[in-house]
Amino acid sequence: MILKPYAADPSHTIGRQYNETKSKFRNDFQRDRDRIIHSSAFRRLEYKTQVFVNHEGDMFRTRLTHSLEVSQISRGIARTLHCHEDLAEAIALAHDLGHTPFGHAGQDSLNACMKDFGGFEHNLQSLRVVDLLEQRYADFDGLNLTFETREGILKHCSLKNARNLGEVGERFIKKQQPSLEAQLVNHADEIAYNNHDIDDGCRSGVLEFKALMDVTLFRECAELVKKDYPDIDETKRIHEIIRRIMYKSISDICETSSYHLEETKPKTIDEIRKLPKLVSFSDEMAQKQLELKKFLRCFLYEHKRVVQMTNNAKEIVKDLFEYFINNQSMMPESYQNELTTDLARSVADYLAGMTDRYAIKTHKDIS
Ligand code: MG
Repeated sequence: MILKPYAADPSHTIGRQYNETKSKFRNDFQRDRDRIIHSSAFRRLEYKTQVFVNHEGDMFRTRLTHSLEVSQISRGIARTLHCHEDLAEAIALAHDLGHTPFGHAGQDSLNACMKDFGGFEHNLQSLRVVDLLEQRYADFDGLNLTFETREGILKHCSLKNARNLGEVGERFIKKQQPSLEAQLVNHADEIAYNNHDIDDGCRSGVLEFKALMDVTLFRECAELVKKDYPDIDETKRIHEIIRRIMYKSISDICETSSYHLEETKPKTIDEIRKLPKLVSFSDEMAQKQLELKKFLRCFLYEHKRVVQMTNNAKEIVKDLFEYFINNQSMMPESYQNELTTDLARSVADYLAGMTDRYAIKTHKDIS
């Protein structure tokens, strides 16, 4: 790992909320990553819906495999840009820890339930998991991660929420950027889901190859594959196309961002925070990514079969919320107002932490 001076530096971290003795063998970002991997919220990602609900099939992405793919892409980009790979990895592995069961349907439903209690947002919840909800250490609640990892986890945030978050919320008030490592993980997330959703969408039969050919980036890569392998079988063809889309997307990010770094010559991570966002696609590629996203929204996320799968989920989350608001003693002890004095928030914490199957089972138990 060759680092440039603008990379995050674990030996100069802004620090942890609670002081701890340094580790002899691991830097602070490695330590963050390890804490995330050992957390119970991380393990539960295995049984949380990405797009296809967990029990639809064993081949589809879950939040866990999605997070692993984001981390792999992030590390590659971080290394190319001479940023800190360990920090990028830690942020990537933690970025979805706050997701509810049942993907976006679950989040929308919980947000509606929390309308009068400050709302629910998965991104804010990821920070809440690592700051408060994980119960592993005698000396503090949460995982006591470094500022840099927490900064990266908090991708976006309303001004109102930012004011209650202390140091980590300040950049939204000052309209500043996070580290390059955090910036690149956002794009790695986007690259990961665009591509694995094409893959899962095709495998499920929801997406059709013919329709995908209307998407510029897909068509360009499909034509390359056709030229190289005119008689390739269907399964291999789609993977050859996807790997080309990924290669093009990642190369574009690396080249465009390197150019921005060359132009602005930032010397420290503090300069990075004050400059405009430096990690980005070229304008042309950004346009193509947007086209692909719009296609996926229209033909996959809003497809009747996908919507049907998650519709039921909305009801489950709503029922569970109402039940536990009225029966707080039925929640595990740690959620019974111990961590917060806000009952609705405790219920939301409990529900958000559930896996798909645990939510379904609990729903059966209470009905
Ligand atoms: Mg994600």
